[in-house]
Amino acid sequence: MTIKAFVIGHPIAHSRSPLIHGTWLAEYGIDGAYEAIDVAPADLPAFFERLRSGEFAGGNVTIPHKEAVFDLCDSVDELARLIGAVNTLVVSDGKVHGTNSDYLGFLGNLDANAPGWSDGSDDALIIGAGGAARAVLVALRRRRGGKVHVLNRTLANAQALIAEIDGPFEAHGFDAFAELAPRTGLVVNTSAIGMHGSRFDWLDLSLLPKNALVTDIVYTPLITPLLAEARAAGLHIVDGLGMLLHQAVPGFAAWFGITPQVTPDLRARVEAALDRH
Ligand code: NAP
Repeated sequence: MTIKAFVIGHPIAHSRSPLIHGTWLAEYGIDGAYEAIDVAPADLPAFFERLRSGEFAGGNVTIPHKEAVFDLCDSVDELARLIGAVNTLVVSDGKVHGTNSDYLGFLGNLDANAPGWSDGSDDALIIGAGGAARAVLVALRRRRGGKVHVLNRTLANAQALIAEIDGPFEAHGFDAFAELAPRTGLVVNTSAIGMHGSRFDWLDLSLLPKNALVTDIVYTPLITPLLAEARAAGLHIVDGLGMLLHQAVPGFAAWFGITPQVTPDLRARVEAALDRH
């Protein structure tokens, strides 16, 4: 019997998830299907009833449903609760379980592209304090020593974020960068800056130690202005596409029973699809 999975969102046409999971289904010769389904917010409860009927093994959840599905799931794990968003659903015995794989996507990307990145105990700096920053903060807390400084345009949002998650965290405005940079080993941009050519005009990368790692979770464009400037400054960089690819691994494994590999071929296919849009 064909095993079916999905991604739901509204709109959903932009999603790269069907390409990622479709590539793996073909590669591993699995009798499975992965489809994008547009579900309007008002139709979410009915969709969950469809899920409980056993039609799907599970699926992904994207904007605008990542918070709304909390109340509809039969169980949500501690990780998703801490991060405040569910992006992966697994159906078992008519019950829907929710989890979050963005955290593993962030870790998987750095583990693959910057081995040893979590060995340091120097400080890390996260730019942005939205939904994605929560997953990154939880990931850094679990894997890396040192303080984590959250810099955000709206200081109150950074303060609210660190108040909700235990750890050696500090909230700042952007003006703190110059003072913090010399003892920073890792910079992660989780803000929307970098999309549509937008750039940081307050960030002097020459203040960072020469061995600092700079990563951006924005992946359209693949090389954001931040990454281009960091590379030009001789710093090590990791782009955000790997996070998207690695966050897909746990869902695929749960639904289809095989832990898939993030290969250069998969990456090249998704990169080509990004170029077409
Ligand atoms: P979000 O919850 O809307 O948060 C947006 C953040 O960006 C906030 O901190 C906001 O600051 C800041 N921001 C927005 N516009 C800004 C501007 N003009 N100047 C300065 N700061 C600005 O969004 P999110 O869900 O965290 O997603 C953020 C980005 O991560 C998106 O581009 C998304 O595509 C990307 N993402 C990538 C992956 C991946 O797999 N690679 C996964 C998840 C998300 P304020 O608090 O001041 O408003």
